[in-house]
Amino acid sequence: MNKRLESKSKHAPALRDVLGAIVAGARAARNMVYSFALAGSVGVTSWYKRRARVVNEFPALRLCSASDRLLVVVPHPDDEVLACGGAILSALEAGASVHIVFLTLGDGFWIDAALLAHHWRPSWEDNLKLGQRRLREAQNASKSLGLPKENLFFLGYPDRGLMPMIRLEGSDAVYHSIYTGVDRVPYKEALSPEAQHTLGNLLGDLETVLERVKPTVLLAPSSRDAHPDHQASAELVARTLGSRRDIRRYEWIIHGGLEWPLPKGFHPRLALVPPPRGRGLSWERLDIDHDQVRTKSQAIGAHHSQVLLMSRYLNSFARRNELFAQVAAEESDEQPTQPDSGARKV
Ligand SMILES: [Zn+2]
Repeated sequence: MNKRLESKSKHAPALRDVLGAIVAGARAARNMVYSFALAGSVGVTSWYKRRARVVNEFPALRLCSASDRLLVVVPHPDDEVLACGGAILSALEAGASVHIVFLTLGDGFWIDAALLAHHWRPSWEDNLKLGQRRLREAQNASKSLGLPKENLFFLGYPDRGLMPMIRLEGSDAVYHSIYTGVDRVPYKEALSPEAQHTLGNLLGDLETVLERVKPTVLLAPSSRDAHPDHQASAELVARTLGSRRDIRRYEWIIHGGLEWPLPKGFHPRLALVPPPRGRGLSWERLDIDHDQVRTKSQAIGAHHSQVLLMSRYLNSFARRNELFAQVAAEESDEQPTQPDSGARKV
């Protein structure tokens, strides 16, 4: 291009200068972006190091004794290990009973389904196969933690559909999953197979789990978590438990913002620092010994479909501690929300 400009126009030198200035400007802008990125990275790393020192000052959490019954509520398979793997191991070692309830089977993770199905437009059937696979992975992960599959409840409601189901409250509409094409629980292993995707059915299943487990301690996502299914889970638990004070409740965060947790990868001796989205929560530190971190990492590995995509991210939760914040029961004399009596499981 420059040769042609030089030979054909008397204004070529001026034009060349302008183009040169544009190129130089673009290079300067690019270098500036790189500089900001590097400075930002260094700044974030230093911020996380400062926060790591704060973790040691958090109260040490003794979650369970032998008489406790722990219930872990999770939106997707893998959340139970990432957020609570160490807590589950500690509770089992203390002699407590442990149960986990999975609200969905993560069948809306289409990138994962595409990867496993070897094509870029996974079908509804591919997403359902992913859900089945994640159910088996959850069973294997729990086995790694020492938990039999009899202690797991799979509700099988739609991935990325929990918040829409809450928003449908008051209408007669049934939520139709855009990922699986179904409007009812499609898994035979679920607590209520074929139950329609209604808020009433979901709350009813949660009530059933509470009645069977009779937990004294409950771990569930925080409403501050960035993922809408996690936010919805927090709301569902709050509605189900209402003002009950006979259950100690703690919340945790996975999607915590700002690339949390850093650094990525398996760093068993590093502290898990509080997530940016958890600012202001009264965190308590549950310490995990080295063997427990190793076991937690093995359990993460059992979620093979997820590790295929996000190994370093998932393993960045295998640290020397987990973080939980106690949730106060609602200041209300009202009874816990009952499932909509008009909603039928069919
Ligand atoms: Zn999740």
